[in-house]
Amino acid sequence: MIDAQAVGKIIEKYDQSKLSIGTLGSHSSLNIFKGAKEEGFRTVCICKEKDAIMYQKYPLVDELIIVKDFTELLSEQLQDRLRKLNVVLIPHGSFTAYLSTEQLTDSLKVPMLGNRQLLHWEANRKSQEEWLRQAGLRLPATFKSPDDIDCLVIAKLQGAKGGRGYFLANTPKGFYKKAEEMMKRGLVTKQDIETVHLQEYALGVNVYPSYFSSILNNDVELLAMDRRYESAVDSIGKIPAQQQLEIDVAPTYTVVGNFPIVLRESLLPEIMRMGENVHKKAEELAPPGIIGPFCLETVITDDLKIYCFEISARIVAGTNVGIGTSPYAYLRYGENMYMGRRIAMELKEAVKQKRLHEVVA
Ligand code: AMP
Ligand code: AMP
Repeated sequence: MIDAQAVGKIIEKYDQSKLSIGTLGSHSSLNIFKGAKEEGFRTVCICKEKDAIMYQKYPLVDELIIVKDFTELLSEQLQDRLRKLNVVLIPHGSFTAYLSTEQLTDSLKVPMLGNRQLLHWEANRKSQEEWLRQAGLRLPATFKSPDDIDCLVIAKLQGAKGGRGYFLANTPKGFYKKAEEMMKRGLVTKQDIETVHLQEYALGVNVYPSYFSSILNNDVELLAMDRRYESAVDSIGKIPAQQQLEIDVAPTYTVVGNFPIVLRESLLPEIMRMGENVHKKAEELAPPGIIGPFCLETVITDDLKIYCFEISARIVAGTNVGIGTSPYAYLRYGENMYMGRRIAMELKEAVKQKRLHEVVA
């Protein structure tokens, strides 16, 4: 485990007047790089050859490092290069999708914005649920075994990439039948089914509020809100019910994009309190709590109950809908504030106040 002391030693050697902001070229990197440039940082992008076009077309990246695979981030040689460039890494969904929690906590010896300890709380569905429950959030019920299913459930795979392979069932029999079909179609493996997480399906609309937890200001800010555009579930309604039955469509949840949302104002106080409480709980579980961006994944039902089914303790791609501005960022900061820029602002302020060691881990 790379601890605060180890990271502290690395940043002692940094030339903080020449700090660079770096990340993997994917997910929310354009958002992060744009924000970094606007706050005057140099930027470093580690990307795959096939994706380089994006970072060549937009004038956002000062140093483009091409890798064959994102796991190259674990190589001593690349890490050494990043440290020489005084890089602070901004983790996003591709870090957790392509690297394991252990690799991130034990082998990445480059300062990262955020709290590495929290990765363990987040990576495991059980501990994550404990965290959210203890924070007083309303969670969908979970089922230990498929044999206990007595309502509509969503079956989630461990470490799924963006909802891939999820399916629905409302009886034990229905579950086993669906699992069999999914295995036949090659969408899930036997091991996926053995370790599947069964959660009550909350019937409602998805809302993903994104927050920024500022250690410097000791405050949690609500900065953006989105919902996802998921294939195939968002397209099923285009087919008449008769044909749905005939072709036996499975509602899968592969994310392809996001939409911005403006929430009914009377729901906002609870959304705000949820963010604050999750951070407060994190302060107890893994001090100093959440550092920087985080997002709660919620479903709001027709009786206006907010169910939270997941947390991401880092920037989510849904904040890309706010590049430039979002209503919630606007309310607080006026024009031209968004998650990528808010991150850079915090790093700049941390350097100014000589508190960089408090926001990286
Ligand atoms: P990618 O680098 O696009 O493969 O994405 C890395 C991880 O982030 C995957 O688990 C994706 O499902 C997730 N992800 C990427 N883009 C989005 C998005 N727009 N909204 C939600 N999740 C996303
Ligand atoms: P996740 O990978 O956990 O972000 O979930 C992917 C998608 O599955 C979400 O965007 C929702 O559309 C859906 N989903 C996940 N959990 C639930 C739930 N408990 N109730 C209803 N829909 C859910």
